[in-house]
Amino acid sequence: MTRLILATRNAAKVIELRAILAHAGLTHELLGADAYPELPDVKETGVTFAENALLKAHAMARATGLPAVADDSGLCVDVLGGAPGILSARWAGRHGDDQANLELLLAQLADIDEAHRGAHFACAAALALPDGRERVVEGQLRGTLRYEAVGDGGFGYDPILQPEGNSRTCAQLTPAEKNAISHRGKAFRALVPAVEELVA
Ligand code: IMP
Repeated sequence: MTRLILATRNAAKVIELRAILAHAGLTHELLGADAYPELPDVKETGVTFAENALLKAHAMARATGLPAVADDSGLCVDVLGGAPGILSARWAGRHGDDQANLELLLAQLADIDEAHRGAHFACAAALALPDGRERVVEGQLRGTLRYEAVGDGGFGYDPILQPEGNSRTCAQLTPAEKNAISHRGKAFRALVPAVEELVA
């Protein structure tokens, strides 16, 4: 079976991406980056989701000699001109403090009317081969931002994004419901033909 490495140490993300890619019919064996604990974390110096996803995928492919896939994602708020965007994970100042990030955003948008609370999650999914070949695709999930966090599932900004055509927030969806419509689901499903083409 051909091996593919997922450039993330986040165990939840490995599980989510395994489910998305298997559901899309990919039969490759998917390894998480924690199979290579000695590799240093990659600095996300890009200024777009695509640049950061490619940086992570290339670093992992070079270091392991295996084809690698990586993603970069975030929340883009219309009234903030697309912010927090690539800074989503560190919006309140510390990397990965989901609660602080969400509270800061809700406070910033407290006076913004329903009609102007549009936003989307964005995800770039990248494939890089050890020989330098690459592909990158993107997916989005559009919705509106609630005034308060609702729901216990998911992570990050899930409790405040209500997808278009839905009465629940992302944090109230089951993992399968979220994967079916999510930015990450769309991006990785769009990457499958490239994996099938480049990774025999
Ligand atoms: P990363 O792609 O793992 O670096 O994620 C960047 C940040 O974007 C996360 O820390 C979350 O704050 C936010 N984010 C990305 N995808 C999602 C999602 O599916 N739900 C909620 N927040 C997300």
